[in-house]
Amino acid sequence: MATDYYELLGVGREATADEVKKAYRKQALKYHPDRNPGDKEAEERFKEMSNAFEVLADPEKRQLYDRFGPEGPRRAGFGGFNSVDDVFASFRDIFGDMFGMGFGGAGQQRARGADREVDLELTFIEAIEGCRHELKVQRREPCSTCGGRGAAPGTRPAICPTCRGKGQVMHAQGFFMISTGCPTCRGAGSVIRDPCTACGGEGLQQVDDTLQVSIPAGVEDGQTLRLSGKGDLPPGGGLPGNLYVHMHVAAHEHLERDGANLYVEVPIAFPLAVLGGRVKVPVLEGEIEIDVKPGTQPGEVVVLHGLGAPHLHRSGRGDQLVRLTIGVPAKVDERTEQLLRELAEQLGGEGLAPRHVGLLDRLHTRAKRKRRS
Ligand SMILES: [Zn+2]
Ligand SMILES: [Zn+2]
Repeated sequence: MATDYYELLGVGREATADEVKKAYRKQALKYHPDRNPGDKEAEERFKEMSNAFEVLADPEKRQLYDRFGPEGPRRAGFGGFNSVDDVFASFRDIFGDMFGMGFGGAGQQRARGADREVDLELTFIEAIEGCRHELKVQRREPCSTCGGRGAAPGTRPAICPTCRGKGQVMHAQGFFMISTGCPTCRGAGSVIRDPCTACGGEGLQQVDDTLQVSIPAGVEDGQTLRLSGKGDLPPGGGLPGNLYVHMHVAAHEHLERDGANLYVEVPIAFPLAVLGGRVKVPVLEGEIEIDVKPGTQPGEVVVLHGLGAPHLHRSGRGDQLVRLTIGVPAKVDERTEQLLRELAEQLGGEGLAPRHVGLLDRLHTRAKRKRRS
């Protein structure tokens, strides 16, 4: 779906937050599932509208969208909506104010299950290219034995004797009567006399599940993916929570990555730097040989165009930057030592002129990059 969010809502690129909200209200009323029961197409439209609104109503997400398209907010960890329930859960306050509390499922207070979190280890290459992963997760669902009520089958929760079902009790404190949550039923108003043996009266049971998740190409270490509706279900039925997948990307043996660019430092021997020649350099696909020009200075950067990681929002790849330094062996054999002494004598121990290397610029660039991430 390459639909433009602004077109979808029928607003201009310069539309204010208020105009965006008004436009969404109009569209949402038209395609609302309660007005189009059983109409799959209307439901799809409703979800699309809601996705568009979610992004355009939030300044941060809107900016990401304007710069990178629909993938922008998604890449930054803002997932879209998979179901209509998901829309209602996120926009409960908006729908309340839009349609009034009685309008279908929109304004109803539905219980929502707890969110779950899981860690996922990715290799350097998986993060760059994207991948599919099988994820073993545990979540809690209403207990199948008691149907989530917590009471043993054939029994019912009884009215709490302490608060008589109110969930609140009154205390005298000095001259005042103070109402607090009932300590016996913890505010539920009912107590379970015969707890379900399967769930111990909690109404929830743990289930193991295996999910297939696709990890988009270009994710970075520390990013989180939201799988909506893959968290716990509340005991009494309602909306499921979300599953948050925290991604940990393993370091590459040699390469470092910043977005689509790759970096590596390759030490070369002093004679190679002086005379020029060729040196092997690790790249994403393995190894290539590059030219070293005569008189190469330590710290010189060779740019390998198009050998970086794939770009996220357009075709092509970034660059790989190779920084050449002079490798100094910690120890040399006798023959080498002798040759070096001869060389030292030949060069006469004269130092070379100090030079300007743009160190300050480099430090600034690094600081900028840090601030951006
Ligand atoms: Zn149970
Ligand atoms: Zn009570």
